[in-house]
Amino acid sequence: MRTPLVAGNWKMNGSRESVKELINGVVEGAKSLTGVEVAVCPPSIFIADVTAVASGTNVSVGSQDACTALKGAFTGETSVEMIKDFGCQYAIVGHSERRTIYGETDEIVAEKFAVVKNAGVTPIFCIGETLEEREQNITEAVCARQIDAVFASEGDNAFDGSVIAYEPVWAIGTGKTASPEQAQAVHAFIRQHLAKRNADVAEKVQILYGGSMNPANAEELIGQTDIDGGLIGGASLKAEDFLTICQAGQ
Ligand code: PEP
Repeated sequence: MRTPLVAGNWKMNGSRESVKELINGVVEGAKSLTGVEVAVCPPSIFIADVTAVASGTNVSVGSQDACTALKGAFTGETSVEMIKDFGCQYAIVGHSERRTIYGETDEIVAEKFAVVKNAGVTPIFCIGETLEEREQNITEAVCARQIDAVFASEGDNAFDGSVIAYEPVWAIGTGKTASPEQAQAVHAFIRQHLAKRNADVAEKVQILYGGSMNPANAEELIGQTDIDGGLIGGASLKAEDFLTICQAGQ
């Protein structure tokens, strides 16, 4: 039995003041939650402020990315050792915005996945097709390719101790959500694909749905057999909305 995880991706939003208010609201509201894991991924500059409030509570903290290198001349980057040092339990890797805006290839994402996992931080590995790819009927092939890049470098047990987020790119930040049936079909495919390498890992890995999940659609989406929670963008910026989604995961 997989415990659902609801993770908020705050992206590049908020001020020092508003972020403190948001994490205080999430921590307060999450106190009464049971049977669901909760995490928030703030912009890296706010991670210290957020962990200062969340540490010792049932709200975990993650980063939105991590560098492929552990240290050195990589201006502007943040290493997994640094985020770990500040109390992060998770790191998002391969978010579609990183893949499209910053040109992260499947191989770079696989490298980040490995660096994060080897540091003892749980990767939230994002995959998903564009609208064009869905229309070409290659959704499964795209997800398989993105997953296989990780298998190629990390072997059959690669996803043990990791989280996968299926995020159709056309549903991210657009208000267009995959229907529960559409999402379930892809989640089931992902699990079957993982099972070809290791059935035990496939059975226990949490596969989150991401893409315009909100308080109104969360319950039906998370209620699907292979949907084990959500990666939430826009709706994670309001404590009340985020907590309603977390409740849907209970
Ligand atoms: C995301 O960026 O991971 C995401 C799911 O965003 P939104 O919920 O805003 O679509």
